[in-house]
This record gives sequence, C-alpha cells and structure tokens, in this order.
Amino acid sequence: MTPAQRPPLQASRRTALQSAAAMTVGAAVGTITSGCAAPGDMAAAKTPFAVPGVFLPIVGSSLSFPVRRIYCIGRNYAAHAREMGSDPTREPPFFFQKPTDAIQNVAVGTVADHPYPTLTKNYHYEVELVAALDQGGKDIPVEKALDCVYAYALGLDMTRRDLQRAMGEEKKPWEIGKSFDHSAPIGPLHRVRDIGHFTKGNIWLKVNGTVKQNSDLANMIWSVAEQISKLSQANELFPGDIIYSGTPENVGPVVRGDVIECHIDKLPRLSVKIV
Ligand code: MN
Repeated sequence: MTPAQRPPLQASRRTALQSAAAMTVGAAVGTITSGCAAPGDMAAAKTPFAVPGVFLPIVGSSLSFPVRRIYCIGRNYAAHAREMGSDPTREPPFFFQKPTDAIQNVAVGTVADHPYPTLTKNYHYEVELVAALDQGGKDIPVEKALDCVYAYALGLDMTRRDLQRAMGEEKKPWEIGKSFDHSAPIGPLHRVRDIGHFTKGNIWLKVNGTVKQNSDLANMIWSVAEQISKLSQANELFPGDIIYSGTPENVGPVVRGDVIECHIDKLPRLSVKIV
C-alpha cells in the first residue's frame, strides 16, 4: 500500500476495531453459513504478519469505507461494446473483479503518480462511475437495488489491453489484463444522502487536455440498479462491495508522462500522471 492509499491512521484504526468487533459478535452468535468463506474472528486470530485493509475516504465523514470486493461490468455502453467487437443489443451483462489492493486512492485537487505497469505495450484508460454498497443480498430486485448504494465515486478501470486481447483470443482468462497492482485509481466517495443517485450526466476523460472519451451516464446499457440486481444473481453482495459501472467508447492508450483528467457531473475531477 502506498502512502496515498492509507487513510488517516485514526480512521483506519477505528474502522478496523469496528470490523473486528462486528466479526467477534458474528462468531459468537454463530452466523457462519455453510459453504461460505466466513470472516475470521479477527480479535482472537494470531497471525504471523499483518495484511492491511483497503479503505476509501468518505467526503464529509471521518469514517473510512472498507472495500470488500471490486466488481467491474464489461461493455456497458453500446458504442464501447461495438468498438470491442461485440453486439450491444444481444449481450447480457458480464462482470469481472479486481483485487481490492488494486485501489489507488487519488485525493481531490492532486495529480497522483500512476505507475505504468509491467508486461504491457498498450496501456488503456477507461473512465467509470463507481457505486459503493453498504447493503447486499442475493437476487436483489431492480426496484430495491439502489437502496444498497451508499456512495459514488469517479474511477479508472486501467487495462493492459494487449494482454486482455491476447488472452481473449486464446480463450484464456483475461485477468492479467485487468486485475493487477494499481489498476483501480479512484476518487473519494460521495454519499447518496449528500449527492443523490447517478442515472444521467456527462462523463468524460481527457489526456493532456484533449478530450478522448465523452458520453452521458444515461447511455449505459445496464443501469447501476440493473447491474446490482444482475450481479446479485451470480454472487451474494455484501457491504463494502464496489462496482465499476463500465466505460463509454473511445478507450485508448497512454504512455509515461501523460496526464489523465476525468469528470462526471456532480463529482470532483480525478487526475493521474502516468510515470
Ligand atoms: Mn471497464
């Protein structure tokens, strides 16, 4: 974890203590579900080393949001689906995950250094709206789905496109193209109670001041509510899950030295420099 990823120590400790307390209570009342990976009793567990948690800052709150899973939807804008070679009218939504420690927290008003990853010669940006959940469930109906959303953020689904494509052509998992260190830069969370939900609004991305992606959230094939509903049919969702909701068309490459600036109406801009 880079220093930029670390929330203030106090908030981090408080959240960790709360989580540990919640897990202890869960263990005591026997909430372990058979077949599921049950959270360990953190208070009692003795470990040979510490694994840091991953947190997102919450604007207007001293609390930090603990990230449980990062889900991403693929090809959720028709024009982007076409540029990736699929038919947006027939394809059901599909999802992949990034590891939680792929998060790179980017503070508002800063240009964060973002490392160009290993193994790729075609490193792509994808600007996306991110929904953060504080409730979960299975088979969540669309009309109840937005009740699960706690906050939203602006994020980048950074992609080693050459590896993603090569693996896809070989019918291998394209995880190496999507799920790697620092591949999820993200701005701070804005709570629904402060900012509302996002069903429309301009979304754009510039590289070195030139507009590359420019669309409207209303052009999503599957709305955030529909994404949550569909995803909850595949996996039970839990508080702490975040969902990258897909990118518009005109994805493209960056090289070292490029500065990416992203925007979604109502959210502060997100900027990173590729180093
Ligand atoms: Mn994406």
